[in-house]
Amino acid sequence: MSSPQSSTPETCSACGGGSLEPLFETLQTPVLLCELWPDEASAVACPRGDIRLALCGTCGLIENHAFRPELVHYSDAYENSLEGSALFKEYQEALAQDVIERHGLRHKRVMEVGCGNGSFLLRLCEETGNTGLGFDPSYPSELPSTRLDGSVQFHRAYFGPGQEHPRVDIVVSRQVLEHIPEPRPFLSDVLKAGLAPGAHSAVVLEVPNTEATLRNLALWEVTYEHCTYFTRGSLARLLASCGFDVIHSEQTYADQFITLDARPSAASTGEIRAEIEDLESLKELARSFAANYADHLLYWTQRLQSWATEGQRVALWGSGTRGISFLNLADTDRSISTVIDVNPRKHGKHLPGTGQMIVGPDSLKPGEGEPDVVLVVNPIYREEITRDLRERGLSASVQTLEADTPTGTTQAR
Ligand SMILES: [Zn+2]
Repeated sequence: MSSPQSSTPETCSACGGGSLEPLFETLQTPVLLCELWPDEASAVACPRGDIRLALCGTCGLIENHAFRPELVHYSDAYENSLEGSALFKEYQEALAQDVIERHGLRHKRVMEVGCGNGSFLLRLCEETGNTGLGFDPSYPSELPSTRLDGSVQFHRAYFGPGQEHPRVDIVVSRQVLEHIPEPRPFLSDVLKAGLAPGAHSAVVLEVPNTEATLRNLALWEVTYEHCTYFTRGSLARLLASCGFDVIHSEQTYADQFITLDARPSAASTGEIRAEIEDLESLKELARSFAANYADHLLYWTQRLQSWATEGQRVALWGSGTRGISFLNLADTDRSISTVIDVNPRKHGKHLPGTGQMIVGPDSLKPGEGEPDVVLVVNPIYREEITRDLRERGLSASVQTLEADTPTGTTQAR
């Protein structure tokens, strides 16, 4: 089942280096975890691919060297919005405010590459006098292509060479770079080419924080559609080598994301600031993650099996990337029958791989069939979900998938 080894020596797509340290493999995993299906049979028969992760010893990029871009086709069946969560809405609102303040973003031109349903771009352009341009092949077909009285335009398309557009002051790209198999040309040709010349032009990038994934042993955050995995250090190094100066970097959303702002600079030395240099600690973390991967997966597989044996009903709350990834790694026997999500666009659809149908929280009622255990894949939502369950009169034990799993438990009242 393993994909054939490439006949040419593999190199790092960020720095071109050949010193690659293999970390682990996951074979035949669903290619697009957020692509939902109308019925169980097609969900189970979804396209699959292999993950063969390696760490570049030169620049720290972690990359899936078995990634085949031709398998990945984003469409508007790709549902990746987290906005059903109040916490995520709050985060996105605060991020928009920060970006507006950091860049004095008023009466400027903004482009978002990978704008999803457009809500973040709209927020940047509301009451600021900014004009916006959004690109995303998964921009929902039911939404208009022009919004905010014509000041924001959306294109249901990839952004890239050949796209005619006015140059802009700020290019925002959130949760996109990690999907791009060739990150160098994406940064140095595509995004940089979108910027108007000027001292204040900048890109604002947000990607998952791989340091947190490794530290928390979050196996489910390694997915086929993410072909590259960045830390602040490795992303800053890539940006510097592509001719950018990193002007701002932070870990956000309970350290789950990193945000870096960078400005094109002819004088970029390719060096990064000492305080975000993390190459040696990253190597340690990556090796520890790889060494513990199989044991941690076995722990969860056995835990789900023992709940099933005891007749405990287990529901999973959250059918985002991590939730579906968890099911496909740890629950291939399908002992979890109920998958809950607050996003109404997902209800009644089937998730790829294991094929369960997603239901809304309103389908959870006290009495026969109520869950004994609710697994919360993303620990950041534990309080929000626990409160929701209690308000529905449900006393299920709420558990998360954090690294210290045996103690990661909220007991019922
Ligand atoms: Zn490299």
